Amino acid sequence: MSELYNEMIEFAKESIAPYTQDVDCEAKFPIESFKFIKDKKITGLLVPKEYGGMGLGFYEHTQTILAFANYCATTALCYMMHNVATNCLVTYGSEELKKEFLPKIANGELMLALAYSESGTGTHFYIPEIKVTKDGQNLNMSGKKSFVTSAQYADYYLIDANSFDSEGLDNWLVSKDLEGITFEHSAWNGLGMRGNASCPMILENVKIDEKFRIGASGSGLEQIMNIVGPFFIIGLAAVYSGVALNACNTIIEYSMNRTYSDNSTLCNIPTVQNHLADIYTKAISAKFLTLSAAKSVVDADLAALANVIAARLNASNMAVDVCTKAMKIGGGTAYAKRLPIERLLRDSLAAQVMAPSSDVLTTWLGKALTNQEIL
Ligand SMILES: Cc1cc2nc3c(=O)[nH]c(=O)nc-3n(C[C@H](O)[C@H](O)[C@H](O)COP(=O)(O)OP(=O)(O)OC[C@H]3O[C@@H](n4cnc5c(N)ncnc54)[C@H](O)[C@@H]3O)c2cc1C
Repeated sequence: MSELYNEMIEFAKESIAPYTQDVDCEAKFPIESFKFIKDKKITGLLVPKEYGGMGLGFYEHTQTILAFANYCATTALCYMMHNVATNCLVTYGSEELKKEFLPKIANGELMLALAYSESGTGTHFYIPEIKVTKDGQNLNMSGKKSFVTSAQYADYYLIDANSFDSEGLDNWLVSKDLEGITFEHSAWNGLGMRGNASCPMILENVKIDEKFRIGASGSGLEQIMNIVGPFFIIGLAAVYSGVALNACNTIIEYSMNRTYSDNSTLCNIPTVQNHLADIYTKAISAKFLTLSAAKSVVDADLAALANVIAARLNASNMAVDVCTKAMKIGGGTAYAKRLPIERLLRDSLAAQVMAPSSDVLTTWLGKALTNQEIL
């Protein structure tokens, strides 16, 4: 693996892992992990060097999320959303907006998040109902986003909304401090990903400035298809590959340490050895398909989009399979929550429902493979 991946693994071991259990048990946002991520300026991973960032891209985005997810799926997911929003700004933002925001993101002063999903369209986040209207010189945004990871903790939110001056969608960068914005914090009580703070965001007649629109009028869907979507889908593949690897490593170690009165260990049992072999094969298939799908994007492989979708579907399935089997190997000890496997199983179940959900993505993959328009 690359130097960056190893560096991020070491960072996550020291600065993310110590907080993972409390993040889950107390359902609290990983404030400490993000303090370290900001201090080390990893918020600027995708910010070009000319704006003070690390100037890295799609592959390094995937590697970093994978490394973080080996230790905390919640932190990896929140970080992934930050990167996706940042990259939309990097790719489509005006020079004015980039000069204002990118140095601060690179410096760890600002964190971003995605406010896309709405109750009215569910997993189809690219069909928002929220609208920007023009009243004289004023632009107003009103509506409700249903699940916003890092809600209240991120400083700015990438919001997709129907355009006020064209038929299409626009992406906006919206500050959490604008008048008319509230969060329904108590609404998040997830089965897993408990520290995500993925709660509704309500916008009531929020006055916005046109300079915060990203790109040309009506180009929001193009931004979603070209940049937001691929970075997001590979990001989810990396998060859930990390969950599978974590469960795999945890249960291998446990099986070697669990001893019986006759001095044998759990891993001496042939059935357990078979299960471990299956778990390992699945976990590394998730990891390597994710990394090679990311590489295929960098190499502009014609099958890159199909590879990214397949990697995300595979990682989602592998994470659930690996965690379920690890629960069996861990016996009552795992079931009694004396191992982190049950947390990982709960975290893994989010993969199938996160937009675009597994069922929607399988349809997309079928279309991509047969040269049909995805949307
Ligand atoms: C942990 C977590 C974090 C999240 N973070 C964010 C975030 O930061 N920002 C954000 O914008 N959103 C976020 N979401 C929202 C998420 O991306 C989805 O939009 C949301 O989970 C959809 O929930 P729903 O109940 O509206 O699903 P529904 O849309 O009601 O779907 C219910 C089921 O129907 C299936 N379904 C729906 N339509 C189709 C179809 N056409 N074909 C096949 N099956 C279909 C879905 O796959 C799903 O299984 C988050 C969700 C979770 C769980």
